[in-house]
Amino acid sequence: MLDRALVDGLFPDDLPEPAELEERYPPRDLGGRDGQPGLVTRFGPSPTGFVHVGGLYTAMVSRDLAHSTGGVYVLRIEDTDQSREVAGADEQFRRAFEAFDLVPDEGDLEIGALPAPRGDYGPYHQSARAAIYQTYVRELMRQGKAYPDFATKDELAAISDAQRTLKLPTGYYGRWAPWRDASEDDVRAALDEGKPWVARFRSDGVVGERFAFSDRLRGRVEMEDNHNDVVILKSSDNPVRLPTYHFAHAVDDHLMRTTLVVRTEEWLSSVPVHRQLFAALGFEPVDYAHLAPLMKQEGGSKRKLSKRKDAEASVDFYLEAGYPVPAVQYYLRGLANPRLAEVPLPEALATPLRLDEFGLAGPLVDTVKLSDISADHIATLPGPDVLAGVRAWAAEYDPEVVKVLDANPELAAAAIDVERVGVENPRKDLAKWSDFREAYGFFFPELFTDVTDPADERFGGLDPALVRAVAADLADTYVHEGDQPTWFQQIRDLANRHGFAPNPKTYKKDPDAYPGMLRDAANVARVAITGAQRSPDLYEVTRALGADEVVRRLRALAG
Ligand code: GLU
Repeated sequence: MLDRALVDGLFPDDLPEPAELEERYPPRDLGGRDGQPGLVTRFGPSPTGFVHVGGLYTAMVSRDLAHSTGGVYVLRIEDTDQSREVAGADEQFRRAFEAFDLVPDEGDLEIGALPAPRGDYGPYHQSARAAIYQTYVRELMRQGKAYPDFATKDELAAISDAQRTLKLPTGYYGRWAPWRDASEDDVRAALDEGKPWVARFRSDGVVGERFAFSDRLRGRVEMEDNHNDVVILKSSDNPVRLPTYHFAHAVDDHLMRTTLVVRTEEWLSSVPVHRQLFAALGFEPVDYAHLAPLMKQEGGSKRKLSKRKDAEASVDFYLEAGYPVPAVQYYLRGLANPRLAEVPLPEALATPLRLDEFGLAGPLVDTVKLSDISADHIATLPGPDVLAGVRAWAAEYDPEVVKVLDANPELAAAAIDVERVGVENPRKDLAKWSDFREAYGFFFPELFTDVTDPADERFGGLDPALVRAVAADLADTYVHEGDQPTWFQQIRDLANRHGFAPNPKTYKKDPDAYPGMLRDAANVARVAITGAQRSPDLYEVTRALGADEVVRRLRALAG
C-alpha cells in the first residue's frame, strides 16, 4: 500500500473528502407509494452520438418506473469521453427529450418548461464532476484498493501477447499487472520521470471464478467474475482528469442515490466489475434492470436495430415524419410490456410499466405497425386537434403548409372533417403529420396543381377527347346544391349522356359497346377535382371546396 502522502500528492489539494460528499448528497427521502419507496432511476446518454430510438425507449422506461412509484428520474450526461464527443449532441438530446415529453425531474439541460439546472444532486454532466471522482479514486488508493499505473501502450500490448502465447486470459491482473504491487520508490521514480499514469482498481476477483446476481428483469444471472484491474481514472496527460464509465457509474449512481439502473443488455457483462467497485467504495449495491435491445426484422431473421443502417433508429426519423407523440409513446410502451399493445391508447399511456412484463427477447421495431397505430390514433382526434398537430409539425418541417392553413382556416376545418365527422369509421388517411400534404393538399388551391392534360394516365387510358367532353359537360351543367344522392345522380346522368355503361355487369356483357362504365366517368370528375384516382367521398369534397372552385377545376381540364 502506498504511503498516504504519496497518494494525496497525486491529486489536487482542494478535493473534498468522501464524508463531505456524503453530506452534500444525502440519501433521498422519497415517500413512494403503497409503503414502498419511490424508485430513483436515471438515463445516461453519452454525447459521442445522437440519442436514438433505443435511447428514447430506455429513457421512457426509466422515467415511467420512477414516476409510477413516486420516485425521481434523472438525466445525466455521460461526457467522459471528450475525444469522441460530437458537436451539437446536447442540443439534440434536449430536442429529442422535449419532443417526446421525456422531461427529467433532475438534470442540467433545459427541457420543457421547467427551469434548468434542477435537482440537488448535480452537476449532471459528468465532465463537471471531475473533483468528485478524484476524491474517490484518492480514497481507494489511500486504502490500497487502487493504484497508479504507468504502463505504456507497448508494455500493455506485450503483456497481452505473452498471455496469448500461454493461452491465458488477456488483461491486466494478478502477476501480469506490473504496477499492482509496485514499491513506493518505483512509483516516485516514474513520477519524477514525468510518466503519465492512469488509476487502476485493484480487483480481488479470481480468474475462473463465477459471479451471480439478481437482475430485476432477468432474475438470477450467472457469469464469469471480473479479475481485471480495470482503469478507473483516465490518463494524467489529459487536460481534464476524468473517470472511465465503470467508475463514474459507481460514484454517480451512489451519490445521486439511484436505486434502479435501467440500461441495455450490452452492460450486463460489466456487472461483476461494477459490484466490485461498489463494494470497494463501501457503497450499497444498486439494482439493475438490463433491457433487451430493440431489433429489426430483416428477411427471415432478427438483428439489432442499427444506428448506421436503419433510418428508423434515428429520433429525427420520427420527428421529420411527424408521428404524433402519443402514438410513438403507445408504440414504445407496447414493445416494453406487450400487454399494453392490446389495450386502448389512453389506458396504455396511463398504465405503469411492469418489470415482470418485459420480454427478454429484443422487441421488433416495425414502422408499418407504428403507422397503423398512429393512423388509428389520429382518427380518434377532433378536427381542430388534427390541424393543430399538422400545423405544429409543419412549422418546423413544411412552412408552406403553415401558410396555407393560416390563409384558409375555414377550408382547412371543412377539409379535415370530410368523412371524419358524423361517420362510424373516420378516415385513416393520416398516419403522420407529413401525410397531410399528400392526403389533404388538393383541398387548397395553393397546393393543388390543376389537371389539364386529358391524356394523363390518371384517366386510365380513356380517350382524351372524351375526357375533355365529360369535364366540359359537367362544368356547364354542374349543380352544387342538394343532398348526396341528388348530387351523384348528375354524375350518373353525365355518364349516361356520354355513353358509359351504368354498371360493371352491363359493361362486361359487351365491353366494345361502351367507352367505359360509370366508375370511369366519375373518375374523370374525381381526378379533375382532387388530382387522384382515390379520394374521400367526392360529394363531401365538393362541399368543402365550394361550387366555384369545383367548376374552375373542371374547366381547367375541359380546356
Ligand atoms: N453512457 C452509457 C451509454 O451511453 C450509459 C449506460 C448506463 O445507462 O449506465 O451507453
